[in-house]
Amino acid sequence: MKRIVVLGAGYAGMRTVKKLTGMNVDAQIVLINKNPYHYQTTELHEVAAGTKEPADITFDIANTFAKKKNVQVLIDEVIRVDQNAKSIVLKNNAPIRYDYLVNALGFESETFGIPGASENGWPLIDIDTAMAARAHLENTLKRYKRSRDPNDLRIIVCGAGFTSIEYLGEIVYRMPKLAKKYGFPRNQVKIDCIEAGPKILGMFNQNLAQWAVRYLEKRGVTFHVSTPITEVRPNSVMSNDQEFPANTIIWTTGVHGSHVIADSGYEQKRNRVVVADDLRVAGQPDQFLIGDVSGVPNPENGRLYPTTAQISIAQADCVAENLVALMNGQPTKKFVFKALGTVCSLGPKAGIASIDMFGHWSLKGWIASVAKKFIADRAVLELGNIRTMLESD
Ligand code: NAD
Repeated sequence: MKRIVVLGAGYAGMRTVKKLTGMNVDAQIVLINKNPYHYQTTELHEVAAGTKEPADITFDIANTFAKKKNVQVLIDEVIRVDQNAKSIVLKNNAPIRYDYLVNALGFESETFGIPGASENGWPLIDIDTAMAARAHLENTLKRYKRSRDPNDLRIIVCGAGFTSIEYLGEIVYRMPKLAKKYGFPRNQVKIDCIEAGPKILGMFNQNLAQWAVRYLEKRGVTFHVSTPITEVRPNSVMSNDQEFPANTIIWTTGVHGSHVIADSGYEQKRNRVVVADDLRVAGQPDQFLIGDVSGVPNPENGRLYPTTAQISIAQADCVAENLVALMNGQPTKKFVFKALGTVCSLGPKAGIASIDMFGHWSLKGWIASVAKKFIADRAVLELGNIRTMLESD
């Protein structure tokens, strides 16, 4: 019997295994992941801000596939892929050989080599880092009552990408509760968002982007655009000679793929590998790369699609079909992606959305937060079958 090894139990890896089990594929499937749980990265900012708990966004991987006899879940850390030996080198177990490989190892925080960023910034990339950022912020806000240090009430969010904006939305929503809990003056909280580029939320039309910016500004956020961060100190962020002091620095300036990609000798850029049109790796007919470690060129403009849960799920569906095709000696199919839209939440009750389902819709306010639930639950989760797939059947 052939062995399919899937690396990573994020949206891409989980969906691949679920899809394969639904296709009654005649192969042993080994799913390898560092943690015993899957977490919904699209909701990590809520855990970081404290509006959700880890249990709300995590699912036990072994339970999910407990009834699938041909699926083995192995909890271990992947060190590298030995492409010549067709095996996976693991931290705690002996190497595992594969006939087919689906590499879906996901993302890590990007620091662009900026001095002090990894030492002094709090990234939001997984449950542990989200909880660490939350504990640091709450301890710092709590300390103000004793310290009276204004920097204890200052928060800097680095970068103004999706993660930053969604985190800002949650944190301004939660701030009144935190002020009450820890007895600090809410009107003295200062939140700065520092962005290198000239625009905030440039992927939305100007009307929607401005609405979101004003929504956050009204709730105490100050945006600084065209302000590249050049250094992160223990209690401040530098943009060339300009210093922004704060005792909480959230590091959300972007992500790159897993370091395992570079360690395994793939031809890559920021640990992303540009894949062939059937999602295989050039020169490696038995390997697929999907999710945040892969780069898929958009045929309309030649640029790589942004990494999202939506595209990861669509890739997983394509890979499952292509694996079955390969095992049956049939040709693989091309990956075609149709984005359903983009939603950016601003706390639990507001957001902006640009949706391409049943026409084109530009939404803002509470209706966009409903749309996020709809896109998240219906498109990302139900259409992608994540929610369904995470419940044992
Ligand atoms: P991102 O790359 O989208 O945004 C990072 C931001 O940080 C950019 O605006 C960049 O200009 C800025 N930046 C980088 N270096 C800087 C510096 N030195 N100084 C100041 N600013 C700097 O990263 P992200 O927000 O972590 O998102 C990662 C991926 O996940 C993206 O592809 C994103 O589309 C996706 N995502 C999507 C959603 C959603 O669809 N709702 C939510 C979260 C993440």
